[in-house]
Amino acid sequence: MTLFPEMIEAGIKCGITGKAINKGIIELEAVNIRDYTNERKHLKVDDYIYGGGAGLLMQAQPIWDCYLDILKRIRKDRERQAANGLTANSHGNGKPVRVIYMTPQAEVLTQSKVTELAGEEELIILCGHYEGVDERVLEEIVTDNISIGDYVLTGGELPAMVLIDAVSRFVPGVLHNSESAETDSFQNGLLEYPQYSRPEIWNGKRVPGVLLAGDHEKVDEWRLDQSLKRTRERRPELYEAYVEKHREKREEM
Ligand code: SAM
Repeated sequence: MTLFPEMIEAGIKCGITGKAINKGIIELEAVNIRDYTNERKHLKVDDYIYGGGAGLLMQAQPIWDCYLDILKRIRKDRERQAANGLTANSHGNGKPVRVIYMTPQAEVLTQSKVTELAGEEELIILCGHYEGVDERVLEEIVTDNISIGDYVLTGGELPAMVLIDAVSRFVPGVLHNSESAETDSFQNGLLEYPQYSRPEIWNGKRVPGVLLAGDHEKVDEWRLDQSLKRTRERRPELYEAYVEKHREKREEM
């Protein structure tokens, strides 16, 4: 749900996510909230803020009606799939659809939240704009608030694209090599090790010899060492959490 569907489409309908959409592995519909406003003269979707203060707020009515329409379509789609015996949704037709509001007033998105959301059949994402959204409609529809970082952007479109991209990578078939999502940074709580491609020598710099010798055990050891070193240097809090987790695991054994 957005005021700028063309922005979302331009960002997502190219590259790897675009290919996944073309193949029907994921579906994306950027729905224009403006189409649902009851104010048909100027198609207004925002108004002044009670109590004063600068800026405008997105009103509840267009978002609510947009949400109800999307929900209706999702339900119809579930029914159609069930009738065709195609339902991939093990939770049946009644499962509530998660509605995510992209907002700086939330915990910052993590890889574990991304993988959790990738298990959902459908997601509705609400992009705010201006000063944000009337609180009452948020209270009615939002199940998850997600921020992409402790800074404020002009709208929720870029954050929504970040979320869609990150979640799509965990939908089977989106990435060619499923392993590449599994060895990425954060999957095991560490940053990924450095990587190299051809040629063996570039600009006088050699690829580390261990990667050329064909000993997979040694390669794994080297990669773990590098991951630990890089995480300790660049993200000490992640490193501490990793060390703590592995200490606890060892104590349990
Ligand atoms: N007045 C709001 C506040 O102080 O929290 C900020 C509104 S911001 C200018 C407009 C919209 O951009 C928000 O409603 C939200 O959808 C989106 N947005 C801005 N920064 C974001 C962030 N870091 N993460 C997720 N969404 C964000």
